[in-house]
Amino acid sequence: MARALIVSANGAQNYQECQSQGKRSIVTFSHPFDDTSVKASLTAGIQSIRFLRMSETSMTAWPGVDRFAPREPMPKEQAEPLSREIANLKRSLNAVILAHNYQVPEIQDVADYVGDSLGLAQQAALTQAEVIVFCGVHFMAETAKILNPNKIVVLPDKDAGCSLEESCPAGQLAALQRTNPNFWTVAYINCSAAVKELSDVICTSGNAVKIVEAAPRDKDLLFVPDENLGEWVMEQTGRPMTLWRGNCYVHVEFQRDVLAQMKAKYPQAKVVVHPESTREVRQLADSVCSTEKMIAYCKSSPAKQFIIVTESGIVHRMQKECPGKEFLCPPVFNAMRAPADPCHCSECKFMKMNTLEKVRDCMKNLAPRLELPQQTINRARLPITRMLEISAR
Ligand code: SF4
Repeated sequence: MARALIVSANGAQNYQECQSQGKRSIVTFSHPFDDTSVKASLTAGIQSIRFLRMSETSMTAWPGVDRFAPREPMPKEQAEPLSREIANLKRSLNAVILAHNYQVPEIQDVADYVGDSLGLAQQAALTQAEVIVFCGVHFMAETAKILNPNKIVVLPDKDAGCSLEESCPAGQLAALQRTNPNFWTVAYINCSAAVKELSDVICTSGNAVKIVEAAPRDKDLLFVPDENLGEWVMEQTGRPMTLWRGNCYVHVEFQRDVLAQMKAKYPQAKVVVHPESTREVRQLADSVCSTEKMIAYCKSSPAKQFIIVTESGIVHRMQKECPGKEFLCPPVFNAMRAPADPCHCSECKFMKMNTLEKVRDCMKNLAPRLELPQQTINRARLPITRMLEISAR
């Protein structure tokens, strides 16, 4: 993973390295920035610099931010004509629209199925449609293509990537695998088709515990690419694993202090946390689970208020499926945003690249279209079908 230097405009005095270990290095400078220190860091092997408006240390003192409102659906007058066009295209193409829980509300509203990665893979495996319109990020559409090599798979924006996927290049994984022939590689579905090819079994956050429990006992487990999910699975199963050092840039931005403040302010609220979050955040949770299980938890819980620690797109479904309940979104320390962007929301910039217009256009043009070499499809299908089989047990 590239080392990134994060520079805070109003942080602590002078140069202070807060974190290393191959992850993001957080560095604060006094304002104005000390040019010499920035240059010194660059020559020390740091490959990119992101400028922040606030420092990690000042996050808890950020005035007036104790939660943020998730995004509203597109206005009806704009959404309805597009939705009608999409419905007509769906009929004429014999298409199915699959959407991830993090998609914008208006895309969720036109989808045939909205769910997490596991549900989407299961739907993709079952569908009779001739065209799959995959509204999520690139690796998800790849998974649908691997399961349906003879069908047309289109996606609204081919550049919708994923920080987790990027963190695990197949070449580097292959090099690590060569160091131990006894590795059994469990790959979180958030990885490229090339990484899936190299894996023994795939998992999602919804079934990772079950998949790891089913792994051969005589093997050394290698878990890629999410270190936080892997760590949580180790805690749940007691099975040691070598963890790849990747993470989701959205989930690691949640801060324990901010969450603790919210818990104190809303003591009745249940805290629901995605396992891609850090351990110190997970420790404050009433439930740690995948997005699909979050919805089930919120439905069945007698509580009326929930603090949702994941990408905020899921709140649209929660509001629809859990009427009368309230969902609060904690603000994040958002290292990926530009200095002029004051938003502290937990939106994934990749998931939000898809729009209703792009859904319409990809159906009209049957492009961008997902294509993969046959050899990749053949090799990557095996660990995915293994996951689906274990998951169905
Ligand atoms: S939320 Fe995180 S894991 Fe999901 S697509 Fe965005 S960057 Fe990847």
